[in-house]
Amino acid sequence: MAAAVDLYEYQGKQLFARAGIPVSEGRVAETPAEARTAAEELGGQVVVKAQVLVGGRGKAGGIKLADSPDEAEAYASDILGMDIRGHVVRRLWLERASEIAKEYYLSITFDRGEKKPLFMLTTQGGVDIEEVAAESPEALAKLHVDPLVGFQPWQARWLCFTAAIEDVGEQKQVAAIVENLYGAFVDFDAMLCEVNPLIVTPEGEVKALDSKFTVDDNALYRHPEVGEMRDVEAADPQERLAREKDVTYVKLDGEVGILGNGAGLVMSTLDVIDQVGGRPANFCDLGGGGDAEGVVAALEVITTDPQVKAILFNIFGGITRCDEVARGILEALERMTIEHPIVVRLDGTNAEEGRRLLAEASPANLHVEETMLSAAERVVELSR
Ligand code: GDP
Ligand code: MN
Repeated sequence: MAAAVDLYEYQGKQLFARAGIPVSEGRVAETPAEARTAAEELGGQVVVKAQVLVGGRGKAGGIKLADSPDEAEAYASDILGMDIRGHVVRRLWLERASEIAKEYYLSITFDRGEKKPLFMLTTQGGVDIEEVAAESPEALAKLHVDPLVGFQPWQARWLCFTAAIEDVGEQKQVAAIVENLYGAFVDFDAMLCEVNPLIVTPEGEVKALDSKFTVDDNALYRHPEVGEMRDVEAADPQERLAREKDVTYVKLDGEVGILGNGAGLVMSTLDVIDQVGGRPANFCDLGGGGDAEGVVAALEVITTDPQVKAILFNIFGGITRCDEVARGILEALERMTIEHPIVVRLDGTNAEEGRRLLAEASPANLHVEETMLSAAERVVELSR
């Protein structure tokens, strides 16, 4: 299932720096005392910034300029623990404060309609980009990059020209940042890289003051360093376990634990559970992992959720063979003790053989149903 990893500002800025995009020097702090030390090390005026995965931190009071280590410490204790639109602040980023002459906006994202990356650049930065798009669309320079041709240097010049950046020194710096941002977007398999604001200092220096960086999590195997950046503490305990065991799992609110093979099948299983008046406890896709290892891993994740009252296996055998999954289930039940009632529906390749294996072994808590609907009805009944 496609999902995304959102990085904190300071993590995105680390990736920016690696891609050659100018950012300010800074430090992470998790306590007021650490913030004081960070301010001492950085020297001069610093900006204390809440690290949460939501925008609009400035307006919410999560960003403060501090003139001394004392002030940095005081702001840190104000901001830590603050709730910013449902996100509790547990970490701060302190960086050397910048003087701002102008605030621009630069981003690259996927335009799914065009199937191409899309750049947006405007000199009206600092505010919501939706506002600029709605109120002064002519000020927003937009340009697609053909991924097969790749980024072309003229495209950066075109963006600067169209956004009406007139200063030659600024043009050069912005063009280099545009090119490097494209590099970061491609190299890290990003879905979004946004710099708002991209500032110009009174001395004419251009740099990224904020960062929003989202990576496609299907590509994480290529970027272990990004995987480590993902906030594991904030995640749900089952989701964390699932990640460790390499199981595709999303926690939901109900009582029926669900295992299927293929995201589409699992989605429709959720619908059918809902249709017969039950509530799914999770989304769990075995994918091709119908062997005992895969089934044990998935069952371990699902049964650690105390809300789960009954479990439904919904398997459609294509490449995955139903007899293999049946053997996987039986072996899993031998290896681990599961008290929950389990309903199994097998259909497709070798379904009969699979059902025969289950009927032969017939563990006490295992119920076999022929159709998806009857299986859903049975498991919802058993979850009550
Ligand atoms: P957001 O509100 O979550 O988008 O956080 P930003 O990092 O974009 O910061 C919001 C605003 O705080 C910026 O638009 C700036 O006006 C201000 N700000 C952030 N860093 C600095 C800084 O180093 N110096 C100054 N003067 N203002 C800053
Ligand atoms: Mn911002």
